[in-house]
Amino acid sequence: MKLIFASHNAHKASEIQSILPSWIDIKTLSELNYLEEIPENEATIEGNSQFKARFVHEKFEQNCFADDTGLEISSLNGRPGVHSARYAGEQRDSNDNMNKVLEELAMMSDRSAQFKTVITLYWEGAEHQFEGIVRGQIATLKTGSEGFGYDPIFQPEGFSATFAEMTMEQKTVISHRGIAVQKLINFLSNLFEQLLII
Ligand code: IMP
Repeated sequence: MKLIFASHNAHKASEIQSILPSWIDIKTLSELNYLEEIPENEATIEGNSQFKARFVHEKFEQNCFADDTGLEISSLNGRPGVHSARYAGEQRDSNDNMNKVLEELAMMSDRSAQFKTVITLYWEGAEHQFEGIVRGQIATLKTGSEGFGYDPIFQPEGFSATFAEMTMEQKTVISHRGIAVQKLINFLSNLFEQLLII
């Protein structure tokens, strides 16, 4: 079964590939030689995810899915949230973004946070959304070199390691994206089981 993944992010694509069963074959936009950025100007994570899925469906007229993720920090009233990619500016630099968060949290005792991913699947003319949330803490220092984005400062609940100290497989089992992708897989599996019964 073929699906376009509405993203250029190779890290995300590898995380998703690592848990997809072999009968789901995904292609990223870069693999389809579509190199333009998709606008991410909606006010919510759900909205951005939906916009990206619709955009790619209109371009390619094929089944596709998009994800959008935000880091929501309690002491910052949910920021950076939908602005996670550009939190420290248009350069979209992960180090700058993490430094800004660490500075803003320097005097805060509550360092609780969550990552939220919303996947929008565009399947045969209908849209479906799947959410994944992982709760944790913002560390005081950047640690680890795996992963991407805010991984070096995010410690998932129950772990002393940051996401950037975990292998991709360890992260994906517990992560926001892993949880949302698992829901997507369950949905597609049920759909195919029903088709086989009919
Ligand atoms: P996007 O809109 O889904 O690309 O995510 C927005 C921003 O959130 C990215 O640019 C990253 O900085 C951050 N982000 C998304 N997913 C993750 C993750 O799994 N770990 C750490 N940071 C992430």
